[in-house]
Amino acid sequence: MPVVVSKDICIGCGACIGVCPTSALSLDANGLAECEESICIDCLACIGVCPTSAISQK
Ligand code: SF4
Ligand code: SF4
Repeated sequence: MPVVVSKDICIGCGACIGVCPTSALSLDANGLAECEESICIDCLACIGVCPTSAISQK
């Protein structure tokens, strides 16, 4: 399952974007992370680096 970002917890640090092997993560217009589900390969690397635990599996 792809991951989902809780936008009320994300602080926009960009750490998750740096580790995503498929560039599935990006910052939205508000500077918060979002995941393009069709590209996510469920490697879970992003979950491990998020300082606020904003990312979880759907
Ligand atoms: S689970 Fe892996 S592929 Fe999916 S958004 Fe996170 S780092 Fe990228
Ligand atoms: S690592 Fe966490 S806090 Fe940082 S941009 Fe990604 S989801 Fe947001």
